[in-house]
Amino acid sequence: MAEYQGILICGEVVDGRITTITKELMTTGRRLSDDLNQPLSVLLIGRDIDEAAKEAVFLGADKVYTADGTPFAESHPEHYTAMIVDVGKRIAPSIILLGQTDMGRDIAPRVAAKLGTTVCMDCVEVAIDQETRLLVQTKPVYGGNAMAVWVSEDYQPQVVTLRPRVGEPAEPDTSRKGEIVPVSTGVDDSMIKGKLVETVKEEIKGIRLEEAKVIVTGGGGIGGSEGFQLLQELAQVLGGTVGVSRVPCDEGWMPISLEIGQTGHMVSPDLYIAVGISGALQHLAGCSGSKCIVAINKDPEAHIFKEADFGVVGDYRKALPPLIEKCRALLAI
Ligand SMILES: Cc1cc2nc3c(=O)[nH]c(=O)nc-3n(C[C@H](O)[C@H](O)[C@H](O)COP(=O)(O)OP(=O)(O)OC[C@H]3O[C@@H](n4cnc5c(N)ncnc54)[C@H](O)[C@@H]3O)c2cc1C
Repeated sequence: MAEYQGILICGEVVDGRITTITKELMTTGRRLSDDLNQPLSVLLIGRDIDEAAKEAVFLGADKVYTADGTPFAESHPEHYTAMIVDVGKRIAPSIILLGQTDMGRDIAPRVAAKLGTTVCMDCVEVAIDQETRLLVQTKPVYGGNAMAVWVSEDYQPQVVTLRPRVGEPAEPDTSRKGEIVPVSTGVDDSMIKGKLVETVKEEIKGIRLEEAKVIVTGGGGIGGSEGFQLLQELAQVLGGTVGVSRVPCDEGWMPISLEIGQTGHMVSPDLYIAVGISGALQHLAGCSGSKCIVAINKDPEAHIFKEADFGVVGDYRKALPPLIEKCRALLAI
């Protein structure tokens, strides 16, 4: 497998800027490149990405491939897959890294299938084994109750998605030099089976869930949309944001865009406060990577307490107001 060389990051660009998860991938990618002594490449797809390409060099890329323009203006999964596969075949990297984002989740398995290789999704750690020089991929399984370590000897390239916030974003070094290589798309609309009918942009108020350091999440125990005001207040005091479990979405109390879990967002904040949440495996799948979990639940037998670092047994309506006041006082807000 010696013909496979280097790391390829599939970066994400929003409004001409490299996203935070891409900066985190740069940190990981640079470390893997240095350990393997192989080059780090980044593929950026989109429109008006010249500045983003320069930024990628400053963040650690040796080479940046840019696919600029239509049809890549919209993040259509088939366009993106085709482009990544095209560049992947040209440069034959040993590792292809994507973020475990909406885009990464959609595209990584397609890329792996088209390249005839395997994919390891939602990794929280990746490292090079010093002896074998193989990629060691660690990911939570069984809703975060166990960690699986996966090493593949038989398939190249290794396609991996990395969960947001498991590493620090790379810091720019403006003295770094790298090569920027525009790549022709080689893809036109006639090759694409799916049609993008409409893009609906939802306005995100405050911090994105994947980037939040503090998340206050409410579940079925909140009992209605009005209860979320208390959670908003706590999140605001702590400089965080609010998430939800499946039940408030199903009940129509909160938008589905805030759902955390297996079918929602994968988050890994420093502090995750789970309020009125039972701790179902499908929910834990999205938050078990949090550094510290605090649970507030009136049922002492609730499963969430098995996962929590700290717990409060009680009604959230009684527990939250004094907690908010205490946090306000401690943070002098
Ligand atoms: C294929 C599949 C995918 C799924 N994906 C997801 C997903 O991505 N995310 C997700 O969240 N779920 C998901 N689910 C649903 C999941 O299985 C659970 O049903 C859901 O997570 C339960 O949400 P909950 O714990 O908030 O609500 P409930 O199960 O209703 O639990 C409410 C909790 O609140 C406590 N409580 C009640 N009143 C109060 C009070 N006043 N104060 C304090 N505590 C109180 C109760 O003791 C209870 O523990 C999925 C299910 C399936 C089958």
